[in-house]
Amino acid sequence: MELEPTEAELLGTSLAELDPELSALVAGELARQRGTLDLVASESVPPRAVLEAQGSILTAKYADGYPGRRDYDTCGWVDEIESLAIERAKSLFCAEHANVQPYSGSNANMSVLHALCEPGDPVLGWDFEHGGHPTHYYSGTFAGRFYRASAYGVRREDRLVDMDQVAEMAERIRPRVIFAGWSCYPRFLDFRRFREICDEVGAYLVVDMAHFAGLVAAGVHPDPVPYADACTMTVHKTLGGARGGAILAREELAERIDDGVYPGEQGCPLPHVIAAKAVTFKLAATQAYRSRMARVVEGAQAMAAAIAEREPETSCPVVTGGTDVHQLLVDLSPAGLEANATMARLNEAGVSANAMRIAYDPAEPPGGSGLRLGATALATRGFARAEFTAVGHLLADGLADHSGSRTAELARRVDELLSSFPLFGFLGS
Ligand SMILES: *Cc1c(COP(=O)(O)O)cnc(C)c1O
Repeated sequence: MELEPTEAELLGTSLAELDPELSALVAGELARQRGTLDLVASESVPPRAVLEAQGSILTAKYADGYPGRRDYDTCGWVDEIESLAIERAKSLFCAEHANVQPYSGSNANMSVLHALCEPGDPVLGWDFEHGGHPTHYYSGTFAGRFYRASAYGVRREDRLVDMDQVAEMAERIRPRVIFAGWSCYPRFLDFRRFREICDEVGAYLVVDMAHFAGLVAAGVHPDPVPYADACTMTVHKTLGGARGGAILAREELAERIDDGVYPGEQGCPLPHVIAAKAVTFKLAATQAYRSRMARVVEGAQAMAAAIAEREPETSCPVVTGGTDVHQLLVDLSPAGLEANATMARLNEAGVSANAMRIAYDPAEPPGGSGLRLGATALATRGFARAEFTAVGHLLADGLADHSGSRTAELARRVDELLSSFPLFGFLGS
């Protein structure tokens, strides 16, 4: 008869032994990641050291408050860890103040609004269907529920953010906060112009660099920090590390921002994730990281060029004709393709990306006409220009293949591309 394990045994048992059912699911996801051509623009490949820090014993610690001022007097080590993360974030972005506690990019936006606005204050964000984020204004989020939020968008003719509309709306609604920053937009923003508009109407400028923080850190994207009152970010998108958010701010807003995060919108910080953020910021300050981010942008541009070159055949133009950043947007509507169905077809070949609605989308919701493609994960895996060009042609072949008759061939090409770039080798097979 099998003996019931003791509690001590259970506490010391590995995941694989303790919970084979869950362990098999994680292994399934590992295999999926290894075998997928990951073009999801928000995804990256977390480094081993980040995974170690985020999975460490720090997860046991309660540490409400900030370094040097906690509700517990047993926080010496986590104080040092959080201070290290803060100092590294400030140094990486040349920022006066950093808060590394936000659980996510959404929490960072929520905390900044808490810090800078009163409930009911007007706020101006960027329309989600035009590339922005729901946490800037949408009624289904805190932003639209607790503030009087409106959204600007991109122009129909060139799909670029309409700064005249931003200025006109700002003049009319006198927002407390203007968000600049996107989830899906292929071009640089004019931070100076955003600053001028904010100054004209007395608004705070919050740059939401959730997507492009890594590019800023690497110096391959204009730096918003000198213009913004606060910058919010995720640490896991192009920054490529810990799963969570962070906020940078001008020194005079430091206390309000900190209060907005804790106790404003969050409870105890996550010391294990803060440790992983410290590791991320250390890595992002290296020359290797800067080279990788340059390769990310080059990769996105190579994909865009290949897809644009094939437009006569696919009828799928690249929105704005190319990209300055890690992602690009393909418009499927001239080909009469619906994005979700097209994505499902590409999924069959082992490609993952985002199907989405786009500005002036002719498709009836919940359908959409946009395919967002990002280069971060694959560049982190090792892809360079030649591979990204091959990916662009693979996608063009997929887009042209309306019937799905080439799916098996595309899947073989995906496997071949991935085979030279093993993922998470340190985890074994
Ligand atoms: C991803 C994203 C967020 C939210 O980040 P989460 O960590 O997913 O909550 C906020 N703003 C923008 C612009 C984003 O792209």
